[in-house]
Amino acid sequence: MSHDVVVIGGGPAGATVSTLLAQQDCRVQLFERDHFPRFHIGESLIPETYWVLKRLNMLPKMQRSRFVVKHSVQFVSANGRPSAPFYFADNRPHECSQTWQVVRSEFDKMMLDNAREHGVDVHEGVRVVKVLFDGDRAVGVTIRPGSGPERDVPARVVVDASGQNGLLQNKLGLRVWDPVLNKGAIWTYWEGARRDAGRDEGATMVLQTPDPGGWFWYIPLHDNIVSVGVVGPSDELLKRRSAFADTYDEEVERCSAVRERVSGATRATGCFATKDCSYRSHTVSGNGWVLVGDALAFLDPLYSSGVLLALKSGEMAADAIVAGLADSDTSAARLGAWEPTFMAGVDRMRRLVCEYYEGFSFGQFVRAYPHLRGAVTDLLIGDLFTDKVDTVWEPMASLYPADRMPIPAWDAGARAGRAPRIDRGNDRGIDRGIDRGIDRGIDGGGANAVADGTADSVADGAADRADDGGFESRSDEGNRLIMPEGRRP
Ligand SMILES: Cc1cc2nc3c(=O)[nH]c(=O)nc-3n(C[C@H](O)[C@H](O)[C@H](O)COP(=O)(O)OP(=O)(O)OC[C@H]3O[C@@H](n4cnc5c(N)ncnc54)[C@H](O)[C@@H]3O)c2cc1C
Repeated sequence: MSHDVVVIGGGPAGATVSTLLAQQDCRVQLFERDHFPRFHIGESLIPETYWVLKRLNMLPKMQRSRFVVKHSVQFVSANGRPSAPFYFADNRPHECSQTWQVVRSEFDKMMLDNAREHGVDVHEGVRVVKVLFDGDRAVGVTIRPGSGPERDVPARVVVDASGQNGLLQNKLGLRVWDPVLNKGAIWTYWEGARRDAGRDEGATMVLQTPDPGGWFWYIPLHDNIVSVGVVGPSDELLKRRSAFADTYDEEVERCSAVRERVSGATRATGCFATKDCSYRSHTVSGNGWVLVGDALAFLDPLYSSGVLLALKSGEMAADAIVAGLADSDTSAARLGAWEPTFMAGVDRMRRLVCEYYEGFSFGQFVRAYPHLRGAVTDLLIGDLFTDKVDTVWEPMASLYPADRMPIPAWDAGARAGRAPRIDRGNDRGIDRGIDRGIDRGIDGGGANAVADGTADSVADGAADRADDGGFESRSDEGNRLIMPEGRRP
């Protein structure tokens, strides 16, 4: 049977777009290179995911799950002073205001299984190595199933949901690195770390480090595990490439609010590290193809917006594809009709992220403008795709120091052509209950390692593997996840 749509990647974005397409009677084939469950970072959801999860028929599954319920987010300043928690339901007393802290290996598998239940033809352990083009129109993909031979799969529309691997973004030179948000992260999982009581038990905490531009996330998960990561300027945080665990320990030691919360807890795993430099594609679509999730844009994880953006872009793309297929119009304009709305939302979240790094204090803001507490909470909830939240920006600007420079636009550093190619290193998941992950190497080589060089194909570059453990800079494929100890904890 030939399919209308091929989806590359089975993370939250791929599972969302494919499920919504199948619900609307499209024939969808999804190829995921891994076997789920597989490790992934990105555990804290924000409330606006509710509406997409509802469309996906995922809510009953989430409600039955063991995921910790999250009602709020709280900020702690560098001197240890906590803001009052931002309770989502205080702003919006509705079921949608509670969300979840998810173990991603479990959540992503639930989402992919749900796609199957809705009729998506899901193939795990199958890598897409190439997008096939006829002129400038995508017409299908070449897949490599496990150790089997490569084979072409035709489709009317190709959706790239390959995450930071960014198959099409990489091959077509679409990636624009953010000129400001160049961060790195080191994290681990603690067993028995402090949890607050009652409705604060599942709160995400964002705790500022003593250094400017740095913060910890503190995310309580089920089975008495807490995910605790430190984010900071990547050049500084990750400069000791062989000693991430030492850097992590030093950062914990220097941040008394975190130190106190994990004292008495035991490490459940070793340390992970990644660059989490933000980027976005020049465009969301071309003729016959469209990008969703991290394959389209990745934004600094400060406000836990990644899965929401994956779900929303998946939803918007699915609706555009259904409408386009119905009219036999799968042009770039039709498939990407949602770009302005979506990117305006990403811009709002980016601005809030940049403001934080510029010294914005939520506590100070709501003390100065108590009537805007709701609008700020709306942003934290993820209600990004409407201009009603734009009431916060002017009052926020009134608190700036007089000499503050404007925040550069996301594409202020854009250069013509493709970003320079940088090798990527090892990616090792862990397997210990909290992630039921896998221990594997990730693709090396990337775009420029592709040998075929033909103009009508865009390949994954998986043929070459770079196993150098290097961590020098941003890779063409996005940021790299590594576990430098190279062993299971
Ligand atoms: C340090 C850090 C902390 C974060 N914290 C949060 C958080 O708290 N909350 C939050 O919401 N987000 C967070 N994020 C972001 C979040 O992880 C991502 O935004 C989210 O996973 C994007 O989903 P996706 O489906 O686009 O990509 P992914 O989840 O990465 O899925 C892509 C899938 O594509 C597959 N794939 C790749 N290439 C191929 C190929 N060639 N063929 C077939 N399959 C392929 C991959 O195996 C993968 O399963 C964080 C990110 C980082 C780096």
